[in-house]
Amino acid sequence: MTGRVQLLVRGIVQGVGFRPFVFSLARRKSLKGEVCNNAAGVLIDVEGDAEAIEQFIDELRASPPPLARVESIRRADDLSLAHYSDFRIVGSSAGGEQIASVSADVATCADCLREMFHPQDRRYRYPFINCTNCGPRFTIVEAVPYDRARTTMRDFEMCAACRAEYENPLDRRFHAEPAACPRCGPRLTLTDADGGAVELDAGEEVTGRARLLLASGKIVAVKGIGGFHLACDALDGEAVARLRQRKYREDKPFALMAKTVEIVREYCLVSAAEEALLNCARRPVVLLEKRSDARLPEAVAPRLRTLGFMLPYSPLHHLILETFDRPLVMTSGNVSDEPVSYEDAEAGRRLNKIADYFLSHDRRIHVRADDSVARLHDGREMILRRARGYAPAPVSTSFNFTREILACGAELKNTFCLARDRHAFLSHHIGDLENLETLRSYEHGIEHYRRLFHLRPEVVAYDLHPEYLSTKYALALDGGEAKVGVQHHHAHVASCMADNRVEGELIGVALDGLGFGADGSLWGGEFFVADFRDAERVAHLDYVPLPGGAQAIREPWRMAAVYLQRAVGDEFVELDLPSVRNMDRRAWATLRRMIETGTNSPQTSSMGRLFDAVSSLLGVRHVANYEGQAAIELEAMADPACADHYEFEPAGDGSMIKTEAVIRRAVTDLLDGVPPPIVSAKFHLGVAHLIATVARRVRDERRLRRVALSGGVFQNMFLLRHTCALLGADGFEVFTHRRVPANDGGISLGQAAIANARVAAGRI
Ligand SMILES: [Zn+2]
Ligand SMILES: [Zn+2]
Repeated sequence: MTGRVQLLVRGIVQGVGFRPFVFSLARRKSLKGEVCNNAAGVLIDVEGDAEAIEQFIDELRASPPPLARVESIRRADDLSLAHYSDFRIVGSSAGGEQIASVSADVATCADCLREMFHPQDRRYRYPFINCTNCGPRFTIVEAVPYDRARTTMRDFEMCAACRAEYENPLDRRFHAEPAACPRCGPRLTLTDADGGAVELDAGEEVTGRARLLLASGKIVAVKGIGGFHLACDALDGEAVARLRQRKYREDKPFALMAKTVEIVREYCLVSAAEEALLNCARRPVVLLEKRSDARLPEAVAPRLRTLGFMLPYSPLHHLILETFDRPLVMTSGNVSDEPVSYEDAEAGRRLNKIADYFLSHDRRIHVRADDSVARLHDGREMILRRARGYAPAPVSTSFNFTREILACGAELKNTFCLARDRHAFLSHHIGDLENLETLRSYEHGIEHYRRLFHLRPEVVAYDLHPEYLSTKYALALDGGEAKVGVQHHHAHVASCMADNRVEGELIGVALDGLGFGADGSLWGGEFFVADFRDAERVAHLDYVPLPGGAQAIREPWRMAAVYLQRAVGDEFVELDLPSVRNMDRRAWATLRRMIETGTNSPQTSSMGRLFDAVSSLLGVRHVANYEGQAAIELEAMADPACADHYEFEPAGDGSMIKTEAVIRRAVTDLLDGVPPPIVSAKFHLGVAHLIATVARRVRDERRLRRVALSGGVFQNMFLLRHTCALLGADGFEVFTHRRVPANDGGISLGQAAIANARVAAGRI
């Protein structure tokens, strides 16, 4: 029987070789008709033997091309025959609902690598080789529908050979928009810090010279996929130290890149699952446990037990590392906390005091995207920074966004989120919204996503903190959008729920640095009974003053003094403790007056600040030079063999958690000569037990047995593992972050979910 069916395939189906796949599949099944992209996805009109059509549809679902993601196939049957004479790929049609997805950037595929290292191939050693299965995408797209004229590759006119491949449906480069070759495509340049071209020897390659420069201790700025890296030989302690000094980056760990997993194994323990994550096409930086015998300058990642490694993801990386048997430091090309450089002129201005040389090229980067960072938890990927390789792929949700929503995110590690249907387009990591450059990148980012996904948000969600630039941005919008303020920690919990596709009431634990509370104080050690609509605060850490506000975040010794004074009284200054010995008495006297008079000393229930206090108490870190440093170093020193824990005391009805007993026990231990790694472990385990205790109480009172863990504190793996183990043993179902970060990078997703639920409840 002959039939005709029309199919609309949605998901990630453009720029990933989907039409050639449909074309050859249809030919194999002897079907006729046509396939085209439209703004909603891929439209297929197919006719022929009815049974063959069913097989065709089954295979569309079952074995799409590697980068494609089929989310749905809508079909229309009972059409009159069109009597096609063959099967063809036809030009893009402009119709359809506007929501075709743009693919994330993809690491160089095995086929392209083989060609690049094959002397007879016409792209032999060409640093911009790519195909339908790999190459830059999101970072070069200027507009949709995705085709070459709307990418930065429009600067290059294809040669005849490239065009022939581009137009041949059976070629791997059929409609590979960034396809190019040495004759027609982008080229590398190597210049010194003053912009002067480096003269090469006869027959010498640019990448070969760059490698020599790196091997001789030079710092080279390398233009990558989403921005510039600053690279140097990771085994050259002097080069690493010079890079730190010039970048004004004292301690924050550097990311590393190595040619192969074998090289990574010389420095880190790598499980099979971690190897798979290193090798996946998204190519994140993977946090791995450092080997105790790893020979690497301490300055790469001072005092940490983990290293962040990635494998090469662009052809240029493969060429630079071709004969390099050591890791390279590959840190983002910026000064201190500014956003990463991505335009040549601007990179030259900003990085020429840091880099000795610039390895650049003339393919423009349209959207800046940092390297993503992930690690394994419980055998599964857990993302910590979601950017290149991930964005702009939407986070699919279990619920439907009934209105189009823009969620503006928080302040640090900002992302924004645009949502509709079952798609949350969580942006790539924007950065800390603390300077003009990042704010500009945020505003441009929102405009760009709106255009790419044809979204016109009617509802705007924002954090309650009045001073966040994201809040100010939201409140200044004047397109008639409904505005919804969302409490920071409720957003954390909702983000974890959406991440795990769970709905309904549960126990939400949100532990982080600081977020604006519903009572106007600064929260951060919070326990809720929450769903997407509301969060009832059922317990929290007792309030303490935060003397000096932001200054107290940078100086953990202040929190140690605050907590010691509460636990021990003013006599704490006589104790023989590292934090007290280190303390400037005059500075403490000033602080004490500030606390007494309430000057610039907001109240906080932050768990992050309690970790800071304990870190300083143990002599680990009194002044931090990057966010979270005191807690990160406290975790790194915790003794994994320790099984004892400190006990927090709930006060009153159990909703207020007192910390004095924990601080007093830690002080006693330290004075008794208990080693700090044991004290650190007992503190971590104490927090894990506290979470389990509160969860049990809420379970008994409210009949809830599901727990969501969110907030930056849960990037602490020592705490996370023990908390999950305790709750699991108690019969709780535990949800932790997977697809979006536990830190403030996940806030915007939670804001969007909450705004949506309030719309559904008729509250907006
Ligand atoms: Zn390829
Ligand atoms: Zn060409």
